Amino acid sequence: MVDYPDHFDVIVVGGGHAGTEAALASARMGVKTLLLTHNIETLGQMSCNPAIGGIGKSHLVKEIDAFDGAMARATDKGGIQFRILNARKGPAVRATRAQADRILYKAAIRHILENQTNLSIFQQAVDDLVIENGQVKGAITQSGIRFKARSVVLTAGTFLGGVIHIGLENYQGGRAGDPPSVRLAQRLREMPFRVERLKTGTPPRIDARSVDFSVMQVQPGDTPTPVMSYMGQLSDHPEQVNCYITHTNLKTHDIIRGGLDRSPMYSGVIEGIGPRYCPSIEDKIHRFADKDHHQIFVEPEGLTTHELYPNGISTSLPFDVQLDLVRSIRGFEQAHITRPGYAIEYDFFNPQDLKHSLETRFVSGLFFAGQINGTTGYEEAGAQGLLAGMNAALMAQEKETWYPRRDEAYIGVLVDDLITHGTSEPYRMFTSRAEYRLILREDNADMRLTEKGRELGLVSDERWQHFERKREAIELEKQRMLSTWIQPSTPEAEQLNTKLNHPLAREYNLADLIKRPELTYQDVANLKGQAVEDIAVAEQVEVQFKYAGYIDRQSEEIEHLRRQEHTQLPDDLDYQQVSGLSNELRTKLSSVRPVSIAHASRIQGMTPAAISLLLIYLKKRK
Ligand code: FAD
Repeated sequence: MVDYPDHFDVIVVGGGHAGTEAALASARMGVKTLLLTHNIETLGQMSCNPAIGGIGKSHLVKEIDAFDGAMARATDKGGIQFRILNARKGPAVRATRAQADRILYKAAIRHILENQTNLSIFQQAVDDLVIENGQVKGAITQSGIRFKARSVVLTAGTFLGGVIHIGLENYQGGRAGDPPSVRLAQRLREMPFRVERLKTGTPPRIDARSVDFSVMQVQPGDTPTPVMSYMGQLSDHPEQVNCYITHTNLKTHDIIRGGLDRSPMYSGVIEGIGPRYCPSIEDKIHRFADKDHHQIFVEPEGLTTHELYPNGISTSLPFDVQLDLVRSIRGFEQAHITRPGYAIEYDFFNPQDLKHSLETRFVSGLFFAGQINGTTGYEEAGAQGLLAGMNAALMAQEKETWYPRRDEAYIGVLVDDLITHGTSEPYRMFTSRAEYRLILREDNADMRLTEKGRELGLVSDERWQHFERKREAIELEKQRMLSTWIQPSTPEAEQLNTKLNHPLAREYNLADLIKRPELTYQDVANLKGQAVEDIAVAEQVEVQFKYAGYIDRQSEEIEHLRRQEHTQLPDDLDYQQVSGLSNELRTKLSSVRPVSIAHASRIQGMTPAAISLLLIYLKKRK
C-alpha cells in the first residue's frame, strides 16, 4: 500500500456524467478535489444515445447550467442537431434536445475538466474505500495507492458487478469495451447498503454507408437553432446535420418473436428490471402486440464517423436475430452493423438509504450519485453529481449541506422522489413528476437557481455578471411594458386589429395586451418604444406576463390539494381514463384501488402531480 502524499478535501470516483459534474462542482467551490476514474480517455463518455436533453431532461440540464455546471456548455460545443420539443405546447413542457457528436462532447467535457482550478485527475480503478468509525476517509486503487479525503462521491454508473448480455451469451463488463468494477462492488456489498440489480440496453450501431436514406423521412433541426446553455451562442455550435425516421414492420416483429426463446430477458437469464420508458424492441413488441410498426429515429453519432444510432431498437437478442431484424427495416436492407446491441445488468443501491444531500445514511461523508442510485440517463446522473459534489464540498468546508425543494428545481423533485419512494426500475425524469411545473420551466432555471449557486460558491464571476445583466434587462422591460399604454383608435391600436379581429375597446398597457392568446411579445413590444433584442430576455418577459394567471392558479391548486387530502375515491374509478397519469401509476392504482386520496398518496411511486391529476379528474367526473 502506498499513501499518496497530498490530502484532498473531496474525492470523486468515476468520470461519467455524475462524476464530472460532481468533481467540477466541488472544485468550483474552492475545495481541493481529485477525480479518480478508470480511464481518462472515457471522461464524459456517452454510453448509449449521443443526445442530451428532451422532455423533463432538458430542465435538469438547464438547472445544472444555472449552477455553472458543464453539461449544457459541452452540448453547445458538441451538438450537431438542436430541436425544441413540444414547441407548440405551453412553456412548462417545452424542452430542448440536442443530438451530439460524441467525440466533440467528450472533448468539451475534458477541456472543462482539465482547465478547472482545484481539480486533479488520476487514472486508475478504485477497488476499496477507506472507512474508519463510520466515516469515509479516502479510496484505494487497484494497484494499492491510498488517497485520503474528507468526503468521497461514488459515481460508478453501470460498472458495479456489470454483466453484458447478447442473446444467451454473457460476460462481465462495465459497458461495451470497458471493464466492470467487481472488487469495489464486492466491498460495497459487505456494507449495510441495500443492493439490487437493474438492467439497461442499447441498440446495434449501423454504418451509414450501408443505409438508403432516400426512403426515409428527413428530420432537420430547428431554425433558428436553439442553444442549450444560458451562456451559449450559435457560434459555439459545430456543423448541423439531419436525422431520419424509419419504422419497424410486421416482418421485423415476426423476426423478433422468433428469437425470443434466445432472448436473455425472456428466457429468465436477466433478472434486473429495465427502463420502462426506454424499452428494448423485444419489450415493445411484447407489450404493444397490437401495433404493426414502431418509429425509429436514425441519428448520426458524429461529424467524423459513419456510425448511426438507430434510436428505438435497443435489443439484447442474439446477433443473428439483430442482423435479420435490422435488415427487415426500410432503408436498412443492406445495413452493416458496426457494434451489436446489448443489455447490461448492474448493481444499484436503494436510494432510500440516502439523505437529501445524497450522503449515505450509513457512512458519514460518503455520497452516491448517478446510475448507482437507480436512475437512468446522463441528465439525471449529471444533476445528482452536481448536488453530491456540492454537498461533499460543503461538508469538507464544515458547512451545512443544501438541496433544492420540489418547488425550486427538478433536481429537488428527482432527489425527493428517489429518497421518498426508492425505485424498482430505472428512474427517468418527466415533467409530469413535478407538481410545480409551471414554475419549474426550462426557460427560467437561471432565474430560479443562479443566485443560490452564487451564494454557494458554484457560479463564476463571468456567469454571475451575465445573469445580473439579464435579470436587470427583464425587470426594465417589464416596467416599460407595464407603463406603456395603447389608446383605442390610434395607429398603434390599429396595428393590432387584424390579429385581434376587433378594435381595442379601451386603453391597455403592453403587459395586459401580451396576456391575450392572439398576441406575442413581438406583436406588442414595438408598438411604442423598442422591443429588447435579447431573445432570452424577451422570452422571460412574455412568459412571466402571459402565464401569470396560470401560475397563480397552480399555486391555488396546490393549496386546494392540501385541503382535499381525504377526498374519497370511488371503487369503480377507471384509472385508464385519468389523463396525464403514467402507465406505471395507472397499473398500480388499478391494482391497489385506494379508498381515498390520502390512501392513494401512500402508494409507492405516487407523486403530488399525480394526486393533482386525480383531483382534476374527480372534479370533472362530478
Ligand atoms: P457512467 O456514465 O456509467 O460513468 C461511470 C464512470 O465511473 C465511468 O467513467 C467509469 O469508468 C467509472 N468507474 C466505474 N467504476 C469505477 C471504479 N471502480 N474506479 C474508477 N472509476 C470507475 N440512459 C438513458 O437515458 N437511456 C438509455 O436508453 C440508456 N441506455 C444505456 C445502455 C447502456 C448499455 C448503458 C451502459 C447505459 C445506458 N444508459 C441509458 C444510461 C446512461 O449511460 C447512464 O445513465 C449515464 O451514463 C449514467 O451516468 P453515471 O455518471 O452515473 O455513470
